[in-house]
Amino acid sequence: MHRKLLKLYDDLYAEYGELNWWPAETPFEIVLGAILGQATAWRNVVKAIDNLKSADLMTPDRLGKLPQGELETLILPSGYYRAKAKKVRAFLTHLQAYYNNRLSLLFAQELPTLRKELLSIYGVGEETADSILLYAAKKPIFVVDTYTYRLLKRLGWFSGKYHYGRLQEIFMGNLPHDYQLFNQYHALIVIHGARICQKTPQCERCVLRTQCPTGNESGIYQGSC
Ligand code: SF4
Repeated sequence: MHRKLLKLYDDLYAEYGELNWWPAETPFEIVLGAILGQATAWRNVVKAIDNLKSADLMTPDRLGKLPQGELETLILPSGYYRAKAKKVRAFLTHLQAYYNNRLSLLFAQELPTLRKELLSIYGVGEETADSILLYAAKKPIFVVDTYTYRLLKRLGWFSGKYHYGRLQEIFMGNLPHDYQLFNQYHALIVIHGARICQKTPQCERCVLRTQCPTGNESGIYQGSC
């Protein structure tokens, strides 16, 4: 699996190049993006973040003082805005209560401790926690998402229902724990899933077609997952 994972990385890298994720100006923006990005397209997150930037609210101090109704209005484009406003508030409350609003103090902890703490905050699930860990805190952890699941299943490297931990272990158990590698690898999978290995995959245009059992014979996808 180690070799197969490296070859997949090389093939995707040759196709898409250096991606430099996450597209954000500060670690706090990444945290907000990870929460607001739950169950929505990235373009909707960008609109919500732009609203917060226009209102000059991109610090924990300033955002923490904003009334909840105003927060809901500003993040409305991200969808599920009431639930997400509660989640953002829960994170801000935690950061204020234990770290005096300083992300650097929160992120100074060792990865396992920090992951456990993030997961204890309302609204922070595994994908959100790991996105924060990898992209904001720069810790070497592999972020899994539905693009990862779909790709590995179609490649024949994973079977069964979506399982975050099992999918993550494929990468964490077979690759060096390297922040840059995990950062770039996840970004490559996301861009490939968004552009080519979509729900209805574009196998005829796919760089992986010769090694993918789903696409290598006719180039026409006939199954579903
Ligand atoms: S060949 Fe088709 S199914 Fe396989 S990775 Fe490419 S787009 Fe996805």
